[in-house]
Amino acid sequence: MAVIVQKFGGTSVADLDRIRAVADHVQRAVVDGHRVAVVVSAMSGVTNQLIDYCQALNPLRSSESRANYDHVVASGEQITSGLLALCLQERGIKARGWAGWQIGMHTDGHHGKARITDIHTDALVAAMGQGEVAVIAGFQGVHAGRISTLGRGGSDTSAVAIAAALDADRCDIYTDVEGVYTCDPRIVQRARKLDRVSYEEMLEMASQGSKVLQTRSVELAMNYGVPVQVLSSFNTVSADLLPGTLLVDEEEIVEQQRVTGIAYSRDEARITLTNVENRPGVSAGLFGPLAEAGMNVDMIVQNVTEDGKSTDLTFTVGKADMDRAIELITGNKTFPDYDSIHSDSRVAKISVIGVGMRSHAGVAAEMFETLAEKKINIIVISTSEIKISVLIDESYIELALRALHTQFGLDAVEETMA
Ligand code: ADP
Ligand code: ASP
Ligand code: MG
Repeated sequence: MAVIVQKFGGTSVADLDRIRAVADHVQRAVVDGHRVAVVVSAMSGVTNQLIDYCQALNPLRSSESRANYDHVVASGEQITSGLLALCLQERGIKARGWAGWQIGMHTDGHHGKARITDIHTDALVAAMGQGEVAVIAGFQGVHAGRISTLGRGGSDTSAVAIAAALDADRCDIYTDVEGVYTCDPRIVQRARKLDRVSYEEMLEMASQGSKVLQTRSVELAMNYGVPVQVLSSFNTVSADLLPGTLLVDEEEIVEQQRVTGIAYSRDEARITLTNVENRPGVSAGLFGPLAEAGMNVDMIVQNVTEDGKSTDLTFTVGKADMDRAIELITGNKTFPDYDSIHSDSRVAKISVIGVGMRSHAGVAAEMFETLAEKKINIIVISTSEIKISVLIDESYIELALRALHTQFGLDAVEETMA
């Protein structure tokens, strides 16, 4: 008997028929003799609707309003967990719906994007020990008696954290595609499903925009060695046959490609300051206040003029933060002199990722040449050991992804008719 955590995302529980199909997956695991905890998302579109309601009534600037926001947006998951538990019960399977606070999912106090601090699983373990399927509302936890949420896509993190706490044999993340692909299959039709991907690569892919897993869930899986499988809820193949993509340690991947996957993010905005006074402390003076205001600065490039007296500074922040960042800079009287400030939210970041980059040179040059051939201008570049990212005009996203996908030999081989 294995302990399995199953997570079902929004499209997988979109309506009552989909919830019945999810109950089939749960039932199969129960019949196979597994002890099962299920983590569910809100029905597709529900969280967006709840967020819209909140934003229409309140700009959500204070931490108290963000706590009330969490109280609202967490409710979508509670509905799904109750409905699935009812559906299982009707089939004669013992099941109970659980809210985050009831399984002791404690978080820090950053409402809207809280981090899990610990999970007290005693009650959950006892119920599962009685043969009851636990149907848990994902995305939500509790802090100081108030409901908190884990940020968009947070049910993935709930599932992996619960799998770690239960020392589960596997955490199956059911979604609306067959697994993790070389690139978003909705944009690059020739994307290939990966049978395995290393935790490190998945972490880069997720943090560079591949929303198939929330970044924090991959971090937790890597740190706690949770065996995670990403698979489709639209298939009826047993998850024990491992039809999806497995997250594994790097050493378990025998043939390392130069590039394993390509990610993109539309959530970038560029800000440029021209002719900034060039002296020690300028960057600290700019990026310090942005960090204090909770804004994530991603890519940064600085060009010093020939005489060394001034510099142009370009950096990116999340699209939602752009106006606030500009307000903060223009309103900051202590900031060094600069000539002008420009911004552009019509940009996107494309990243090629692969552990093979550690041992293969020339990936960056090949990436830049491929983009140049397509006449795509690169605005900013940033790199890490296993990743190269470029900022480009957002109208070229699809062209860039497809060209790079082909260039790095990732295209699926088309099956030819005999
Ligand atoms: P869920 O509601 O199940 O959590 P998400 O919408 O959060 O599902 O994540 C699944 C989506 O992630 C897919 O529909 C796909 O468009 C997108 N995606 C982006 N990059 C990838 C990738 N590399 N592999 C698979 N899916 C990806
Ligand atoms: N319902 C939440 C969201 O839409 C959490 C999740 O689906 O993972 O972001
Ligand atoms: Mg998701």
